[in-house]
Amino acid sequence: MDFDKIEIFGDGTSPVIIAGPCSAESEQQVMEVATELVGKGVTVFRAGVWKPRTRPGCFEGVGQEALRWLRRVKEELSLPVSTEVATAAHVEQALAAGIDLLWVGARTTANPFAVQEIADALRGVDVPVLVKNPVNPDVDLWIGAFERLDNAGVKRLGAIHRGFSAYSEKLYRNAPQWQLPIEFRRRVCDVPMLCDPSHIAGKRELILSLSQQAMDLNFDGLMIETHCNPVCALSDARQQVTPDELAIILGKLVRRSSENVNADFLSYRNRIDEIDDKLMELLVKRMAIAREIGAVKREKGLTVFQPFRYNETIERYTGYCSDGKIDMEAVKSIFEAIHSESIRQQLRIVNNEND
Ligand code: PEP
Ligand code: MN
Repeated sequence: MDFDKIEIFGDGTSPVIIAGPCSAESEQQVMEVATELVGKGVTVFRAGVWKPRTRPGCFEGVGQEALRWLRRVKEELSLPVSTEVATAAHVEQALAAGIDLLWVGARTTANPFAVQEIADALRGVDVPVLVKNPVNPDVDLWIGAFERLDNAGVKRLGAIHRGFSAYSEKLYRNAPQWQLPIEFRRRVCDVPMLCDPSHIAGKRELILSLSQQAMDLNFDGLMIETHCNPVCALSDARQQVTPDELAIILGKLVRRSSENVNADFLSYRNRIDEIDDKLMELLVKRMAIAREIGAVKREKGLTVFQPFRYNETIERYTGYCSDGKIDMEAVKSIFEAIHSESIRQQLRIVNNEND
């Protein structure tokens, strides 16, 4: 895909900050937050006009009327404004009101029919659109939403990592899975990637550390929900910060460079590459032996998957984690991946698909 630059991203030297309330609640609330945000490093003002709520009966946004309040912010405070769109009607109304940037919410990204409807409504319109990750950790679904917009001619596109919902998650409202935005960026090059620590955290105390992690992972910006009186917010009260708190968070963020600074640094990289090369050689050897075992299993009529052996492998290596030098879960997932590739190869042997 070939993208045009979203001008709010500037020259990439400082992160884009999108801030404002979860929901536009009243004209006064919108103007108050926006006024307080002026001069605090905010690039674009946000406010939800149509709110996708999990359960009916919650505050679902004031709708079209709030677009006029956003327009006031744009005109009186010279702040570009943004809102979430989930239908073609939202797109038409938002564009007619002069909204500068649109985003597609997580629930909508998960629904290809809805994304297609939005893409069709945007055909021939030049407006930047940010696509949040879908609620479930499916990078193809996320990229698919992007492709629908790209195919409709929307060229100023960006993405937002807002975490993924899980049944038993406690710490986060939507746990971050940083490998997904990293994979997204690997597959869709040159796309600005923002992080929404508010919807990841679900509580304001975690916003600073999540924002710092996003900066450390070279994200291009942040979307942070901001409200003058968060505890009384009509939606997402636990995760919003005041404009002053936002300024403190932004002031504390450390920006690191992604450039390779010197030869010393490169020599570390080379040492890592050497080890990775060896790991790959070993993996190739390991798979060759796995295929040989597959042939024996075929001959002797044994099942490919033998649970006791698998558990033995996992347990043997998790023993290396007791001193904390490497995380047990990480080791488990590495061996799960290696084992599942061995199993895939053996299944092909047993079924005579290759030899
Ligand atoms: C929002 O930004 O207010 C919102 C509803 O976010 P998400 O789509 O990430 O849940
Ligand atoms: Mn919200």
